[in-house]
Amino acid sequence: MGEFAYVAPTSVADALDVLREHANNGRRAQMLAGGTDLLVQMRGLDKAPRTIVDVKKIEEANRLDIGSDEIYIGAAIPSAALNENAALKALLPGLIEAADLIGSTQIQGRATLGGNLCNASPAADTTPAMIVNRGVCVIASGGGNRELPVEAFCTGVGVNALADGEFLLGLKFPHPAARTGDAYLRFIPRTEMDIAVAGCGVSVTLDADGRCVDAAVGIGAVAPTPLKVEAAAEALIGTKVDDDALAAAGAACTAAASPITDKRGTVEYRRKVVAVLCRRTGAIARDRALGAS
Ligand SMILES: Cc1cc2nc3c(=O)[nH]c(=O)nc-3n(C[C@H](O)[C@H](O)[C@H](O)COP(=O)(O)OP(=O)(O)OC[C@H]3O[C@@H](n4cnc5c(N)ncnc54)[C@H](O)[C@@H]3O)c2cc1C
Repeated sequence: MGEFAYVAPTSVADALDVLREHANNGRRAQMLAGGTDLLVQMRGLDKAPRTIVDVKKIEEANRLDIGSDEIYIGAAIPSAALNENAALKALLPGLIEAADLIGSTQIQGRATLGGNLCNASPAADTTPAMIVNRGVCVIASGGGNRELPVEAFCTGVGVNALADGEFLLGLKFPHPAARTGDAYLRFIPRTEMDIAVAGCGVSVTLDADGRCVDAAVGIGAVAPTPLKVEAAAEALIGTKVDDDALAAAGAACTAAASPITDKRGTVEYRRKVVAVLCRRTGAIARDRALGAS
Protein backbone atom coordinates (compact mmCIF):
# COMPACT_ATOMS: atom_id res chain seq x y z
CA MET A 1 0.00 0.00 0.00
CA GLY A 2 1.19 3.53 -0.78
CA GLU A 3 2.18 6.08 1.89
CA PHE A 4 -0.66 8.04 3.45
CA ALA A 5 -1.54 10.42 6.27
CA TYR A 6 -4.93 10.19 7.97
CA VAL A 7 -7.17 12.94 9.32
CA ALA A 8 -10.70 12.69 10.71
CA PRO A 9 -12.26 16.16 10.84
CA THR A 10 -15.35 16.56 13.01
CA SER A 11 -17.00 19.38 11.08
CA VAL A 12 -17.74 20.24 7.46
CA ALA A 13 -15.67 23.43 7.81
CA ASP A 14 -12.64 21.50 9.08
CA ALA A 15 -12.91 18.95 6.26
CA LEU A 16 -13.14 21.73 3.67
CA ASP A 17 -10.09 23.42 5.26
CA VAL A 18 -8.05 20.22 4.86
CA LEU A 19 -9.14 19.80 1.25
CA ARG A 20 -8.46 23.46 0.43
CA GLU A 21 -5.05 23.49 2.13
CA HIS A 22 -4.00 20.37 0.19
CA ALA A 23 -5.29 21.75 -3.11
CA ASN A 24 -3.47 25.08 -2.56
CA ASN A 25 -0.21 23.28 -1.85
CA GLY A 26 -0.49 20.81 -4.72
CA ARG A 27 -0.88 17.85 -2.37
CA ARG A 28 -3.40 15.10 -2.80
CA ALA A 29 -6.26 14.58 -0.35
CA GLN A 30 -8.90 11.90 -0.79
CA MET A 31 -12.11 11.29 1.15
CA LEU A 32 -12.64 7.97 2.93
CA ALA A 33 -16.05 6.56 3.79
CA GLY A 34 -16.15 2.76 4.24
CA GLY A 35 -12.88 2.19 2.39
CA THR A 36 -14.17 -0.91 0.57
CA ASP A 37 -13.19 0.56 -2.80
CA LEU A 38 -10.47 2.97 -1.68
CA LEU A 39 -8.33 0.56 0.33
CA VAL A 40 -8.46 -2.06 -2.42
CA GLN A 41 -7.34 0.59 -4.92
CA MET A 42 -4.52 1.80 -2.63
CA ARG A 43 -3.18 -1.73 -2.35
CA GLY A 44 -3.04 -2.31 -6.07
CA LEU A 45 -4.13 0.22 -8.62
CA ASP A 46 -2.94 3.54 -7.20
CA LYS A 47 -0.14 3.61 -4.64
CA ALA A 48 0.59 7.35 -4.93
CA PRO A 49 0.87 9.15 -1.53
CA ARG A 50 -2.10 11.09 -0.21
CA THR A 51 -3.88 12.36 2.88
CA ILE A 52 -6.99 10.38 3.62
CA VAL A 53 -9.84 12.54 4.94
CA ASP A 54 -12.29 10.40 6.88
CA VAL A 55 -15.90 11.57 6.49
CA LYS A 56 -17.27 9.38 9.27
CA LYS A 57 -16.81 11.76 12.20
CA ILE A 58 -18.79 14.58 10.54
CA GLU A 59 -22.26 14.84 12.07
CA GLU A 60 -24.03 15.94 8.89
CA ALA A 61 -22.59 12.94 7.04
CA ASN A 62 -24.06 10.59 9.67
CA ARG A 63 -27.56 12.08 9.70
CA LEU A 64 -30.50 9.94 8.55
CA ASP A 65 -33.82 11.78 8.37
CA ILE A 66 -37.09 10.43 7.09
CA GLY A 67 -39.29 13.50 6.76
CA SER A 68 -42.75 13.80 5.28
CA ASP A 69 -41.34 15.71 2.27
CA GLU A 70 -37.81 14.45 2.04
CA ILE A 71 -35.47 11.63 3.02
CA TYR A 72 -31.81 12.50 3.79
CA ILE A 73 -29.11 9.85 3.99
CA GLY A 74 -25.68 11.03 5.17
CA ALA A 75 -22.69 10.00 3.09
CA ALA A 76 -21.02 8.17 5.99
CA ILE A 77 -23.87 5.78 6.79
CA PRO A 78 -23.03 2.15 5.96
CA SER A 79 -25.37 -0.07 3.94
CA ALA A 80 -25.94 -2.35 6.93
CA ALA A 81 -27.55 0.52 8.87
CA LEU A 82 -29.79 1.29 5.89
CA ASN A 83 -30.74 -2.37 5.42
CA GLU A 84 -31.80 -2.58 9.07
CA ASN A 85 -34.00 0.52 8.88
CA ALA A 86 -37.55 -0.82 8.43
CA ALA A 87 -39.06 2.59 7.66
CA LEU A 88 -36.54 3.26 4.90
CA LYS A 89 -37.01 -0.23 3.50
CA ALA A 90 -40.78 0.32 3.32
CA LEU A 91 -40.38 3.65 1.50
CA LEU A 92 -37.51 2.86 -0.88
CA PRO A 93 -37.38 -0.95 -1.14
CA GLY A 94 -35.55 -0.92 -4.48
CA LEU A 95 -32.79 1.34 -3.18
CA ILE A 96 -32.33 -0.80 -0.10
CA GLU A 97 -32.24 -4.02 -2.12
CA ALA A 98 -29.53 -2.46 -4.28
CA ALA A 99 -27.54 -1.54 -1.14
CA ASP A 100 -28.11 -5.08 0.14
CA LEU A 101 -26.46 -6.52 -3.00
CA ILE A 102 -23.12 -4.83 -2.30
CA GLY A 103 -20.49 -7.38 -1.32
CA SER A 104 -21.03 -9.43 1.83
CA THR A 105 -22.27 -8.75 5.34
CA GLN A 106 -18.75 -7.62 6.25
CA ILE A 107 -18.54 -5.24 3.28
CA GLN A 108 -21.98 -3.82 4.08
CA GLY A 109 -20.82 -2.98 7.58
CA ARG A 110 -18.55 -0.40 5.94
CA ALA A 111 -19.77 0.38 2.40
CA THR A 112 -21.83 3.54 1.88
CA LEU A 113 -24.16 4.82 -0.84
CA GLY A 114 -21.89 7.88 -1.06
CA GLY A 115 -18.78 5.78 -1.66
CA ASN A 116 -20.59 3.66 -4.24
CA LEU A 117 -21.57 6.84 -6.10
CA CYS A 118 -18.27 8.76 -5.69
CA ASN A 119 -16.27 5.77 -6.93
CA ALA A 120 -18.19 6.28 -10.20
CA SER A 121 -18.03 2.68 -11.39
CA PRO A 122 -20.36 2.10 -14.36
CA ALA A 123 -21.55 -1.03 -12.52
CA ALA A 124 -22.24 0.59 -9.11
CA ASP A 125 -25.42 -1.10 -7.95
CA THR A 126 -27.00 1.68 -5.95
CA THR A 127 -26.60 4.44 -8.54
CA PRO A 128 -29.46 3.39 -10.89
CA ALA A 129 -31.64 2.84 -7.80
CA MET A 130 -30.81 6.35 -6.54
CA ILE A 131 -31.45 7.82 -10.00
CA VAL A 132 -34.98 6.39 -10.21
CA ASN A 133 -35.77 7.70 -6.75
CA ARG A 134 -34.79 11.21 -7.92
CA GLY A 135 -31.74 11.29 -5.67
CA VAL A 136 -29.96 14.61 -5.28
CA CYS A 137 -26.34 14.88 -4.13
CA VAL A 138 -25.68 17.38 -1.36
CA ILE A 139 -22.13 18.53 -1.98
CA ALA A 140 -20.08 20.43 0.62
CA SER A 141 -18.20 23.18 -1.12
CA GLY A 142 -16.19 26.28 -0.15
CA GLY A 143 -19.07 28.54 -1.21
CA GLY A 144 -21.68 26.58 0.80
CA ASN A 145 -23.52 23.39 -0.09
CA ARG A 146 -24.52 22.81 -3.69
CA GLU A 147 -26.88 20.19 -5.10
CA LEU A 148 -26.71 18.00 -8.18
CA PRO A 149 -29.06 15.24 -9.41
CA VAL A 150 -27.50 11.79 -9.02
CA GLU A 151 -27.77 11.14 -12.77
CA ALA A 152 -25.43 14.11 -13.41
CA PHE A 153 -22.84 13.10 -10.82
CA CYS A 154 -20.85 10.41 -12.65
CA THR A 155 -19.14 12.00 -15.63
CA GLY A 156 -16.98 9.09 -16.83
CA VAL A 157 -15.54 5.75 -15.73
CA GLY A 158 -14.16 6.48 -12.24
CA VAL A 159 -14.75 10.22 -12.67
CA ASN A 160 -17.33 12.33 -10.83
CA ALA A 161 -18.53 15.92 -10.83
CA LEU A 162 -16.85 16.95 -7.56
CA ALA A 163 -14.49 19.89 -8.00
CA ASP A 164 -11.20 20.11 -6.08
CA GLY A 165 -11.97 20.95 -2.47
CA GLU A 166 -15.52 19.51 -2.50
CA PHE A 167 -16.94 16.36 -0.97
CA LEU A 168 -20.27 14.56 -0.82
CA LEU A 169 -22.15 15.26 2.37
CA GLY A 170 -25.29 13.23 1.75
CA LEU A 171 -28.13 12.27 -0.56
CA LYS A 172 -31.67 13.61 -0.61
CA PHE A 173 -34.75 11.86 -1.98
CA PRO A 174 -38.29 13.19 -2.24
CA HIS A 175 -40.71 11.24 -0.05
CA PRO A 176 -42.40 8.83 -2.52
CA ALA A 177 -45.96 9.74 -3.56
CA ALA A 178 -48.84 7.38 -2.73
CA ARG A 179 -48.98 4.26 -4.96
CA THR A 180 -45.29 4.49 -5.81
CA GLY A 181 -43.09 1.40 -6.05
CA ASP A 182 -39.42 1.00 -6.90
CA ALA A 183 -37.22 -2.02 -7.56
CA TYR A 184 -33.66 -2.85 -8.61
CA LEU A 185 -32.29 -6.02 -10.21
CA ARG A 186 -28.87 -6.85 -11.58
CA PHE A 187 -27.47 -9.86 -13.37
CA ILE A 188 -24.14 -11.35 -12.31
CA PRO A 189 -22.40 -14.49 -13.62
CA ARG A 190 -21.98 -15.88 -10.09
CA THR A 191 -24.58 -16.16 -7.34
CA GLU A 192 -23.06 -13.31 -5.29
CA MET A 193 -20.00 -11.08 -4.75
CA ASP A 194 -19.60 -10.14 -8.39
CA ILE A 195 -19.90 -7.06 -10.56
CA ALA A 196 -23.09 -6.55 -12.57
CA VAL A 197 -23.22 -7.53 -16.25
CA ALA A 198 -26.20 -5.19 -16.32
CA GLY A 199 -28.44 -3.57 -13.71
CA CYS A 200 -31.78 -1.80 -13.87
CA GLY A 201 -33.82 0.27 -11.43
CA VAL A 202 -37.44 1.30 -12.02
CA SER A 203 -39.82 3.50 -10.07
CA VAL A 204 -43.49 3.90 -11.01
CA THR A 205 -46.35 5.91 -9.52
CA LEU A 206 -49.87 4.73 -10.33
CA ASP A 207 -53.24 6.48 -10.10
CA ALA A 208 -56.25 4.96 -8.35
CA ASP A 209 -57.05 2.94 -11.52
CA GLY A 210 -53.55 1.47 -11.68
CA ARG A 211 -52.44 3.67 -14.58
CA CYS A 212 -48.89 4.93 -14.49
CA VAL A 213 -48.68 8.69 -13.95
CA ASP A 214 -44.94 8.94 -13.30
CA ALA A 215 -41.96 6.68 -13.91
CA ALA A 216 -38.18 6.65 -13.91
CA VAL A 217 -35.81 4.03 -15.29
CA GLY A 218 -32.06 3.82 -14.57
CA ILE A 219 -29.55 1.36 -15.99
CA GLY A 220 -26.05 0.37 -14.95
CA ALA A 221 -23.02 -1.53 -16.31
CA VAL A 222 -24.08 -0.96 -19.92
CA ALA A 223 -22.48 2.46 -20.56
CA PRO A 224 -19.49 4.43 -19.21
CA THR A 225 -21.79 5.87 -16.53
CA PRO A 226 -25.12 4.78 -15.04
CA LEU A 227 -27.91 6.30 -17.14
CA LYS A 228 -31.41 7.65 -16.66
CA VAL A 229 -33.45 6.40 -19.62
CA GLU A 230 -36.20 8.94 -20.30
CA ALA A 231 -37.58 6.99 -23.30
CA ALA A 232 -38.11 3.94 -21.09
CA ALA A 233 -40.01 6.02 -18.54
CA GLU A 234 -42.15 7.51 -21.32
CA ALA A 235 -43.00 3.99 -22.51
CA LEU A 236 -44.50 3.27 -19.08
CA ILE A 237 -46.34 6.53 -18.37
CA GLY A 238 -50.04 6.38 -19.33
CA THR A 239 -50.08 2.56 -19.34
CA LYS A 240 -51.00 -0.05 -16.75
CA VAL A 241 -47.36 -1.17 -16.84
CA ASP A 242 -48.49 -4.28 -18.71
CA ASP A 243 -46.31 -6.64 -20.74
CA ASP A 244 -46.41 -4.47 -23.88
CA ALA A 245 -45.38 -1.33 -21.99
CA LEU A 246 -42.62 -3.21 -20.17
CA ALA A 247 -41.34 -4.62 -23.48
CA ALA A 248 -41.25 -1.09 -24.94
CA ALA A 249 -39.39 0.19 -21.87
CA GLY A 250 -36.93 -2.70 -22.15
CA ALA A 251 -36.34 -1.90 -25.83
CA ALA A 252 -35.63 1.73 -24.87
CA CYS A 253 -33.01 0.51 -22.38
CA THR A 254 -31.37 -1.62 -25.09
CA ALA A 255 -31.31 1.41 -27.38
CA ALA A 256 -29.78 3.64 -24.68
CA ALA A 257 -27.07 1.12 -23.76
CA SER A 258 -23.54 1.48 -25.14
CA PRO A 259 -21.80 -1.36 -23.33
CA ILE A 260 -18.38 -2.96 -23.76
CA THR A 261 -17.46 -6.58 -24.28
CA ASP A 262 -15.43 -8.04 -21.42
CA LYS A 263 -15.08 -11.36 -19.61
CA ARG A 264 -18.55 -10.93 -18.06
CA GLY A 265 -20.43 -10.50 -21.31
CA THR A 266 -20.49 -9.19 -24.84
CA VAL A 267 -22.04 -5.99 -26.11
CA GLU A 268 -24.95 -7.94 -27.63
CA TYR A 269 -25.54 -9.95 -24.46
CA ARG A 270 -25.55 -6.88 -22.23
CA ARG A 271 -28.00 -5.09 -24.50
CA LYS A 272 -30.39 -8.05 -24.27
CA VAL A 273 -29.98 -8.58 -20.55
CA VAL A 274 -30.70 -4.95 -19.69
CA ALA A 275 -34.07 -5.21 -21.48
CA VAL A 276 -34.95 -8.38 -19.59
CA LEU A 277 -34.01 -6.72 -16.30
CA CYS A 278 -36.10 -3.66 -17.14
CA ARG A 279 -39.17 -5.83 -17.81
CA ARG A 280 -38.74 -7.77 -14.58
CA THR A 281 -37.86 -4.77 -12.45
CA GLY A 282 -40.76 -2.76 -13.86
CA ALA A 283 -43.20 -5.56 -12.99
CA ILE A 284 -41.91 -5.70 -9.41
CA ALA A 285 -42.12 -1.90 -9.06
CA ARG A 286 -45.69 -1.96 -10.44
CA ASP A 287 -46.76 -4.71 -8.02
CA ARG A 288 -45.23 -2.79 -5.14
CA ALA A 289 -47.07 0.35 -6.20
CA LEU A 290 -50.34 -1.58 -6.38
CA GLY A 291 -49.75 -2.83 -2.86
CA ALA A 292 -48.70 0.56 -1.55
CA SER A 293 -51.20 2.73 0.30
C1 LIG B 1 -15.62 -7.88 -1.85
C2 LIG B 1 -16.29 -6.65 -2.44
C3 LIG B 1 -17.53 -6.80 -3.04
C4 LIG B 1 -18.15 -5.69 -3.62
N1 LIG B 1 -19.38 -5.85 -4.21
C5 LIG B 1 -19.98 -4.80 -4.80
C6 LIG B 1 -21.25 -4.97 -5.44
O1 LIG B 1 -21.84 -6.04 -5.46
N2 LIG B 1 -21.81 -3.87 -6.03
C7 LIG B 1 -21.20 -2.64 -6.01
O2 LIG B 1 -21.77 -1.70 -6.56
N3 LIG B 1 -20.00 -2.47 -5.40
C8 LIG B 1 -19.38 -3.50 -4.80
N4 LIG B 1 -18.16 -3.33 -4.19
C9 LIG B 1 -17.52 -2.02 -4.20
C10 LIG B 1 -17.72 -1.18 -2.92
O3 LIG B 1 -17.97 -1.99 -1.81
C11 LIG B 1 -18.86 -0.18 -3.10
O4 LIG B 1 -18.63 0.65 -4.20
C12 LIG B 1 -19.10 0.65 -1.82
O5 LIG B 1 -20.39 1.19 -1.81
C13 LIG B 1 -18.08 1.78 -1.67
O6 LIG B 1 -18.41 2.51 -0.51
P1 LIG B 1 -17.31 2.92 0.56
O7 LIG B 1 -18.03 3.70 1.61
O8 LIG B 1 -16.55 1.73 1.04
O9 LIG B 1 -16.38 3.86 -0.32
P2 LIG B 1 -14.84 4.20 -0.16
O10 LIG B 1 -14.01 3.03 -0.54
O11 LIG B 1 -14.57 4.83 1.17
O12 LIG B 1 -14.72 5.34 -1.27
C14 LIG B 1 -14.89 5.04 -2.65
C15 LIG B 1 -14.48 6.26 -3.46
O13 LIG B 1 -15.35 7.34 -3.20
C16 LIG B 1 -14.65 8.44 -2.60
N5 LIG B 1 -15.50 8.94 -1.53
C17 LIG B 1 -16.06 8.21 -0.54
N6 LIG B 1 -16.86 8.99 0.20
C18 LIG B 1 -16.77 10.24 -0.31
C19 LIG B 1 -17.38 11.48 0.04
N7 LIG B 1 -18.25 11.57 1.05
N8 LIG B 1 -17.10 12.56 -0.71
C20 LIG B 1 -16.24 12.46 -1.76
N9 LIG B 1 -15.65 11.31 -2.16
C21 LIG B 1 -15.92 10.20 -1.42
C22 LIG B 1 -13.34 7.88 -2.12
O14 LIG B 1 -12.31 8.85 -2.11
C23 LIG B 1 -13.08 6.78 -3.13
O15 LIG B 1 -12.55 7.34 -4.31
C24 LIG B 1 -17.51 -4.42 -3.60
C25 LIG B 1 -16.26 -4.29 -2.98
C26 LIG B 1 -15.66 -5.39 -2.40
C27 LIG B 1 -14.30 -5.21 -1.74
